[in-house]
Amino acid sequence: MKYDVVIVGGGPAGSATARFAAENGAKVIVIERRQEIGVPVLCGEGISRKIDDWDMLDGDRWIAGRMDGARIYSPDKTCVTLSAEQAGNETGYVIYRDIFDQELARKAANAGVKFMMNTQAIELIKDNDKIKGVKAKQFDKEIEIYADIIVGADGVESKVGKWGGINTTLNPKDLETCCQYTLSNIDCKDAYCEFYLGKEMTPGGYIWVFPKEKNIANVGIGILASLSESGLAKKLLDNFIEKDTRFKNSQPLRFLTGAVPVSNPVETVRDNLILVGDAARHVDPITGGGLTHCLEGGKIAGETIAEAVKRKDFSKEFLAKYETGWKDAFGQKIKRNYLVKEIMLDMEDKTFNKIADSLKDVKFDEISTRGLIKEIAKKHPTLMMKLLPLLKYRKKFKETEKK
Ligand SMILES: Cc1cc2nc3c(=O)[nH]c(=O)nc-3n(C[C@H](O)[C@H](O)[C@H](O)COP(=O)(O)OP(=O)(O)OC[C@H]3O[C@@H](n4cnc5c(N)ncnc54)[C@H](O)[C@@H]3O)c2cc1C
Repeated sequence: MKYDVVIVGGGPAGSATARFAAENGAKVIVIERRQEIGVPVLCGEGISRKIDDWDMLDGDRWIAGRMDGARIYSPDKTCVTLSAEQAGNETGYVIYRDIFDQELARKAANAGVKFMMNTQAIELIKDNDKIKGVKAKQFDKEIEIYADIIVGADGVESKVGKWGGINTTLNPKDLETCCQYTLSNIDCKDAYCEFYLGKEMTPGGYIWVFPKEKNIANVGIGILASLSESGLAKKLLDNFIEKDTRFKNSQPLRFLTGAVPVSNPVETVRDNLILVGDAARHVDPITGGGLTHCLEGGKIAGETIAEAVKRKDFSKEFLAKYETGWKDAFGQKIKRNYLVKEIMLDMEDKTFNKIADSLKDVKFDEISTRGLIKEIAKKHPTLMMKLLPLLKYRKKFKETEKK
């Protein structure tokens, strides 16, 4: 088999990349080890409404709920409320992730992409170190697919990067271990996503409650692998659910476990090779959200790939256009939020309480690091020492900060 591009992984990053490469003239195949796109769901299913501007999904079958905003609770339960406009960046919709992924794949298929299911990449085909394709296993049969560009869209456990010589190893302090129930029969009064912080309740992460449909919500937890031990995430989540009266009569419809990379991005291009989505570590290190970056990065990757095919230039130097593109789009945001994650890791619960106390009555026009720091300085100036690295960073990247 010979294609211009073989994409390993049919998640959102793989399908978005495939679609934009094919729409711009490339001959694309996606191989996916699962039997069904998007199943099983491994996601809190929250996504920003900014995807509305990108016109990547048809209809609204993939939307389970439209959020009016978000509430963030500090360990002493001080609540900071964000309206839809302010929180929209991360909590605009709660989706049906299986339908969402299938819709992205359908759009790619419409553009001419071939999908091969039950097909697991097992190694790269190389000739004198030059990447030539992918060897894969389909049921018990080994197949070889030759292509000029290989895309690693194989998620958090990505192997493609490593096979291509990119160091994608995650330090336990850069990995969230997560679990989540989809609970039915609950009493969620309004369409607000909730986030609960606290070193004891959820070390190095947070608990989320995302209302999905009437009386149904995703209730999950992410904790840093470096602060975790076997079974801890589930134990802490069960404690939380037990104490909240809204969940008194709840019953689980689904339970899932998974991992989210919360590191800085890795190198994303080599000769004949591109990494996208979680494989590229394109996740927001504070929220653990990766979906918007999959779509935004996937589009840039797909368009770059199509251009490379037209020019017959598959060199790292040409593919660097993709790396420059995603860095411009969301690279600084990931870098800044990685720094914030590190600062938050050093904070005691009482510091979170003070920050929430500083912000609880503020009506922000928009959320910016500058605005947050100003409000915290007003009420709790002693906290400024803790935020010093962020101030230094802000000074350095003032331009991109507004984003
Ligand atoms: C518990 C949890 C909650 C989350 N909540 C949110 C949230 O609310 N909002 C948000 O934005 N993000 C969330 N995320 C993160 C989000 O799910 C990821 O950022 C997103 O799935 C990344 O998409 P992707 O296409 O890069 O990878 P994936 O969706 O992981 O897709 C990778 C695909 O590659 C396939 N694959 C892997 N290896 C191979 C191989 N060798 N051969 C063939 N196929 C292969 C896999 O089967 C999979 O289908 C959450 C993650 C977890 C674990």
